[in-house]
Amino acid sequence: MLAGVLISPGHLGIQEVERPEAGPGEVVLKVEAALTCGTDLKAFRRGHPKMPMPTLFGHEFSGTVEEVGSGVDRFKVGDQVMSVHSAPCNNCFYCLRGQQNLCETVMDTKVLGAYAEYIKLPRHIVEQNAFIKPRNISFQEAAMLEPLACVVYGLEQFRISSDDTVAVLGAGPIGLLQVATLKAYGVKKVILAGRHRVRLDAGLSLGADTVIDVDRSDLLKEALAETVSRGADLVIESTGRPDVWESTLSMVRKGGNILLFGGCPEGSRACFDTTRLHYDEITLKGVFHFTPSAVKKAYGMLTSGKIDVKPLITAELPLSELPKAFELLMAGEGIKYAIIP
Ligand SMILES: [Zn+2]
Ligand SMILES: [Zn+2]
Repeated sequence: MLAGVLISPGHLGIQEVERPEAGPGEVVLKVEAALTCGTDLKAFRRGHPKMPMPTLFGHEFSGTVEEVGSGVDRFKVGDQVMSVHSAPCNNCFYCLRGQQNLCETVMDTKVLGAYAEYIKLPRHIVEQNAFIKPRNISFQEAAMLEPLACVVYGLEQFRISSDDTVAVLGAGPIGLLQVATLKAYGVKKVILAGRHRVRLDAGLSLGADTVIDVDRSDLLKEALAETVSRGADLVIESTGRPDVWESTLSMVRKGGNILLFGGCPEGSRACFDTTRLHYDEITLKGVFHFTPSAVKKAYGMLTSGKIDVKPLITAELPLSELPKAFELLMAGEGIKYAIIP
C-alpha cells in the first residue's frame, strides 16, 4: 500500500509499504480521511522525541473496516469507524489512579500511520477508543475525534460556567477547536487572539465573540478592555511558545485559571510572577493527551451535531499531495487539510 513516510525533519515521501493485517483482537481500517495536525507539523519541522525517523505518521483518521481479527465482536467488515490512535493500559500506577492520560505505556502503544491507505488498530484501542461513525457526519468530521478529545480533556480540568469570559491565545487548529468547544458548552464570551486573517475569520465562524489580531493591536490592552480590566476567568495558551505561556498571567483575573495547552520545545523555561500567583490565587495547569472518558464525550459532541468542526478543514488533498499539504502549513496557509488516500 502507499503511505506517507517522514524520512527526516523537513523531508517526507510517499512510499510503498507492507499493508497491515489484523491479528487477534485487531481491526484494519481502510483510511477514508486523515487530518493534518500541529503535532505532525512540529515533527516535520524539528523532529519529535516520540517519533524516531523514518516513521509512518498521521494520527487523526476515520475509515471503513477492511478486516477484523479473531475475537473482535464490536466491529464487522464494512462498518464506518472513528477512532483515536491510543488507549491506556488500565493497569499501571497512573491508570489505577484514574490518570489514564499519563499511562506509562500510552505513548509506546499508540499507532501512527493515518496518511496511508490502511491502518491497523491494536486490541487495546479497538476495545476502548474506537466507535461506529454514524452516517450523519462525514469521514472528515469524524477524524476530528482525537484533537477534540484533547481539547475536551483540557477543559474538563476546570469548572467552566456559561458566564465566564475565556481568552484563547493562539488561532491554530487547537485554539480554534477550543473556541468551538467553549461555545458548544454555552460560554457566552470567548476571546480569540492570534494571527492570520483566515484563521481569525474561522474563529468568528466558530463562534468567537471577539478576535484580536496580535500583529495589529496590543493584545494585553485589548484583552483587559474586554474584561473591564479584571482579566479573564480562564486563559488558555495554545501556541506552545514560552513567551506566550508567560504572558497568560497578565490576562487572568484574581482567583482565575490558566490552562497551558501548547507544548513548548524541549527544555524551554517560563518565568511567572510569584506575587500574582500567590496573592491573586492563580491556578496554572498543564495538560497532556486525553482519557477514554474525554474520547467518549468528544464522540458524543461530534455525532450529536453539538459542535460544528467543518470550518476547520481548509481543503481536501489526495495522499500523493501530502508533501504539498505540509508546504502549505509551513507557509502558514490553511488550518487543517484532509488527506484522502
Ligand atoms: Zn493531532
Ligand atoms: Zn497505564
